[in-house]
Amino acid sequence: MLNINNLHSSIEGKEILKGINLKVNAGEIHAIMGPNGSGKSTLASVLAGKEEYEVGEGEVLLDGKDLLDMAPEDRAREGLFLAFQYPIEIPGVSNINFLKTALSEIRAYRGLPELTSKEFLTLLKDKQELVELKSSLVNRSLNEGFSGGEKKRNEILQLAMLDPKLAILDETDSGLDIDALRIVASGVNKLRNENNAFVIITHYQRLLEYIVPDFVHILYDGRIIKSGTKELALELEEKGYDWITQHETGIV
Ligand code: ADP
Ligand code: MG
Ligand code: MG
Repeated sequence: MLNINNLHSSIEGKEILKGINLKVNAGEIHAIMGPNGSGKSTLASVLAGKEEYEVGEGEVLLDGKDLLDMAPEDRAREGLFLAFQYPIEIPGVSNINFLKTALSEIRAYRGLPELTSKEFLTLLKDKQELVELKSSLVNRSLNEGFSGGEKKRNEILQLAMLDPKLAILDETDSGLDIDALRIVASGVNKLRNENNAFVIITHYQRLLEYIVPDFVHILYDGRIIKSGTKELALELEEKGYDWITQHETGIV
C-alpha cells in the first residue's frame, strides 16, 4: 500500500530526512519510534504535503500513485489521513460541518453518492459511540476549547468518519491520560481491518501496550536504523534511547 523509497527532505536548507525506506501493506500496523528531533513529525508532514518541507530525492507511492506530485487535499482524497501532534483549532467552523464537507469531498472523489442528512447523522452517531465522544462536541468549533483528550478523541472520530486507506498518527498519545489513551487505542483497534493500514508515531512504548504493532521501526537522525517486531519497542523502553545513540556511534 505505502512504499517510501530513499526519501530525503530538508527544511530551511537543513537536511532532516536522510533516506527513509518503508513499506506498509494493507492490514498492517507499523510503529515509528525515536528520540525527540529525529524527524518523526517531519516524515508525517512530508507525507501530508506540508509546503515548508522541501523534498529532495526519493518517492512515496500510495497504491502505486506518487503522492509527492499531489496537492495535500488530493493525498487525503486518495485515502491518506494524518492526525497531528498538535491539532489545529478552527474558530467559526463547526466540527460537524467540517466532517460533512470533508466526507462529501472524499465520497465524490471515490465516485460514491452524497449521503443524505439523515444518513450522515446516523453514521456520525455510530462513530461517536465508537470513540465515546460527547455529542455536544460535534456542534462546537473545530477543536476550539477542547481538552487535550477531547482533541485526540475528535481525531479518532474524524478517522472513523473518513475511513482512510492509510492513517498516520503523530504522537496521538502525548499528553493523554490513561482513559483517553485507552479510547484512542480501542478506536484504532475497532477501525483496523484488512483493507487499511496504520502508522503510529510514538515516543513511548505505552500506547503499544494497547495497539499492538506488526512492525516497529526506530528513526534516528533522519534514518530508520532498526526495524523489528513489537519486542523491539519493549527493548527500547527497557534500555532507553541512549542505547540506540550509542549503538549508532559505535560506543556499544
Ligand atoms: P520529532 O518529531 O522526531 O521530534 P521533528 O521532525 O519535529 O522531530 O524535527 C526534526 C528536526 O527538524 C529537528 O532538528 C527540528 O528542530 C527540525 N525542524 C522540524 N520542523 C522545523 C521547522 N519548521 N523549522 C526548522 N526546523 C525544523
Ligand atoms: Mg518532537
Ligand atoms: Mg514530533
